[in-house]
Amino acid sequence: MAENLMDKIVALCKRRGFIYPGSEIYGGIGGFWDYGPLGTELKRNIKNEWWKSMVYLRDDVVGLDAAIVMNREVWKVSGHVEAFVDPLIECKVCHVRVRADNKEDIAAHLKTHKDIQVDWTKPQKFNLLVRAYLGIIEGKQSETFLRGEITQGAFVNFQNIINSSRVKIPFGIAQIGKAFRNEITPGSFTYRSREFEQMELEFFVRPKDSEADKWFEYWKKQRMGWYIDLGMKKNHLRFRKHESYEKAHYAKYAEDLEYNAPFGWSEFEGIHHRGDWDLGRHKLMYKDEDLKEEFTPWVIETSGGVDRSALFFLLDAYYEDKKRVVLKLHPKLAPLKVAVFPLLANKLPLVKMAKGIYDNLKAQNIGMIGFDDRGNIGKRYYSQDEIGTPFCITVDFQSMEDRTVTVRDRDTAKQERVDMDSLSSYFTKHFNE
Ligand code: ATP
Repeated sequence: MAENLMDKIVALCKRRGFIYPGSEIYGGIGGFWDYGPLGTELKRNIKNEWWKSMVYLRDDVVGLDAAIVMNREVWKVSGHVEAFVDPLIECKVCHVRVRADNKEDIAAHLKTHKDIQVDWTKPQKFNLLVRAYLGIIEGKQSETFLRGEITQGAFVNFQNIINSSRVKIPFGIAQIGKAFRNEITPGSFTYRSREFEQMELEFFVRPKDSEADKWFEYWKKQRMGWYIDLGMKKNHLRFRKHESYEKAHYAKYAEDLEYNAPFGWSEFEGIHHRGDWDLGRHKLMYKDEDLKEEFTPWVIETSGGVDRSALFFLLDAYYEDKKRVVLKLHPKLAPLKVAVFPLLANKLPLVKMAKGIYDNLKAQNIGMIGFDDRGNIGKRYYSQDEIGTPFCITVDFQSMEDRTVTVRDRDTAKQERVDMDSLSSYFTKHFNE
């Protein structure tokens, strides 16, 4: 069932326009994905909700949108050039390379060797940074990298933000943006991609264990709560502490937020205690004007993946019974908020009235609204269920008499009659519950 679920989600994503394989008409390209009309909405909704909770609703966090390409010194000083590596082993017989810590890939390769024994090389380091070349003169171009994490932008702008805003420790810098990694074995659909989006908070605290521990626990709770509030099932989530051998080069300690995916418990957000690693390496300090002291703050980071979140929200929302497939996405995440139908496509007054409601709702700032007059009404409901639209409105003959319409709830499939003129307050209430 679990593997099966993954296949179903991949197929649904392609068929309904959530996610397509990158560059598909040229045979694709491993580890790159394109988001279609509905996937774009889903991702945008996730990012908006994150931004709302991390920036708009807080007094102690400011936003940033740093450049993808930075001076290569940043990556040297941050330790990524030296330490952002995966250990690789290569089969000496057929020269296939796999991650030395990836038991599944190793086992899969063993299976391809029927007669000749596999002979692995010793693990060798492979840097994950994607190289880029700037400048117009061939041979004189300077080498840099596409950022491997969006994090560094927050550190290199630390002083700019202090100088240009009114932040005081403890405070955070929030950012959403693309990151690139030359993953050796991209896979599990979008889970391990080479281009992906991160949503991160770098939270600066006083360099004291008690402070760091307190904020670490605080952010763990906040971040887990955020996913649960947006509908993820609690029993599908857990935190897992990093063992000392798997800690990143910058981390004092770290815990992964994991989802119980069809391919096993899998990280989709990390809470990291980065200590003074980054600010220390960049030689940046904080001046406390009130206490007249200067120190290097410590950093508690929450680093989530937009693509992994989107995938897990989709998997978590998938529901099917004998009759229908439903994506029970939280209304705040659903790509379409409401779809409007005229009962019959060939009855002009019904169509006109439905179009009027559709236009009106579009102007209400609820989100994306759909309109459908194809096929029969049952098929239209199923079609909207499958993409997670929380409500469908049908304009029927009674609507012409008393200005009421039916509103059908996706999860219960129950319908109620609602006054056409109170639709916008009806949805505002339901979406803010
Ligand atoms: P993994 O161990 O799975 O390679 P990581 O520990 O290297 O992940 P981090 O460096 O902590 O990941 O990155 C923070 C977040 O960025 C991850 O929790 C994940 O959501 C996202 N992320 C990292 N690598 C990828 C990737 N290759 N594809 C999609 N998302 C990614």
